[in-house]
Amino acid sequence: MTVAVDPRAVALPAVAGARLAVPLVDGTRVPYANLDHAASAPCLDAVRDAVDELLPWYASVHRGAGFASQVSTRVYEQARDALRRFTGAHRADTVVFTRNTTDALNLLARAVPRDTSVLLFDTEHHAALLPWRGPNVRRLVTPDRPDDAVAALDEALRRCPTGPRLVVVTGASNVTGELWPVRRLAEVARQHGARIALDAAQLAPHRRIDIRALDVDWVALSGHKLYAPFGAGALVGRADWLQAAPPYLAGGGATRQVLARGEQLGVSWSAVPERHEAGTPNVVGVHALAVAADTLTRHWEPLVAHERALLDRLRAGLAAIPGVRELSLFGAGQARVSVASFVVEGRDAGLLAAALSAEHGIGVRDGLFCAHVATRRLLGEAQPRALRASLGLGSTEEHVDRFLAALRGLVAHGPAWTYAEVDGRWVPSPDPRPLPPFLSI
Ligand code: PLP
Repeated sequence: MTVAVDPRAVALPAVAGARLAVPLVDGTRVPYANLDHAASAPCLDAVRDAVDELLPWYASVHRGAGFASQVSTRVYEQARDALRRFTGAHRADTVVFTRNTTDALNLLARAVPRDTSVLLFDTEHHAALLPWRGPNVRRLVTPDRPDDAVAALDEALRRCPTGPRLVVVTGASNVTGELWPVRRLAEVARQHGARIALDAAQLAPHRRIDIRALDVDWVALSGHKLYAPFGAGALVGRADWLQAAPPYLAGGGATRQVLARGEQLGVSWSAVPERHEAGTPNVVGVHALAVAADTLTRHWEPLVAHERALLDRLRAGLAAIPGVRELSLFGAGQARVSVASFVVEGRDAGLLAAALSAEHGIGVRDGLFCAHVATRRLLGEAQPRALRASLGLGSTEEHVDRFLAALRGLVAHGPAWTYAEVDGRWVPSPDPRPLPPFLSI
């Protein structure tokens, strides 16, 4: 007999900071409501424990003869397998460790063959929008519907010059959380002989990624958005372009041999992935990323259920507040991860964000979210910036409810404290909140 398990009954992985209390301007303290997971997610307890366990063994990697060096090297190399599992990579795919998604996409941009046509939508995050150079970069205007995005890519590829082609697309918008039709875009890319790179910075923390099922060539992701804030990210995917490209950074670790030839140097560069990992690698960060990837893989069902319930609660609450308009690329019904950006008519988003923090202990983000084209287009003329609330493993119903109640109060009555604009940002004035003691060292 099989017993149906309610996914929400399965314990979610815990995160650091769940019991953090932050000061308010009135002198009290409240539990911190971190609604800014899309920027950086809190550290998983499992990641922190794994890092703690590693640290006594931490030593130089790759060339160290000592036992701890060999352990560290094993840790580093095993992390590649974890990333392969996490992304459903092909056996022949390579895993290059980077600092983050921005670094991973810049690495790929340096490796695309000369004269590659690069096609992307103009609402991408700057990490995916900006690295591509040259006359053959086509930024397509983002249409109102996913179907039209697929058709627009088809049309653009039809008119593309012959030669290598690369499509770059995000899995989920960091502004609206909306999912992009990655599988269908990949299908169109294939029909035109193009490769496709997935910016998975926002998708990876919320949904299982499968390179094979999505039929993409590369996936780029960031550890700090995946509950592993130790400075590592990854580019996973096809090795050939990366192998043919000059090293991303020149230096130790990326070379097999360097010989003096008169006044010149004869350099033999390593194969991928080491070819693009010059310098001392971030063993701790890479281990953290691997542990986070394995931990999320064991918890997708309850994680998705948890976030879906909270997102529904958040969006329904926002819709009920007078003057609130949620931003959306493809319409309110489009599937999305747990990110919601919005504006409040007649209210400054920056001032609201400052008051949510100073008066209610709630962390949200305001601005254009490093996706200026997308956010400006969705904002229109009336508002210079938006507010974004984003949820994840560190979020609770209480956080969402407190946020909605606080926002409702601010919309109805305005802030209770005084604020000043300093360098374009609103700050409490005065700001009596004490910093944590470790900051005064
Ligand atoms: N792509 C998307 C969709 C993002 O949301 C972000 C960060 O917010 C990035 C890329 C860049 O990530 P990172 O800053 O970790 O390089």
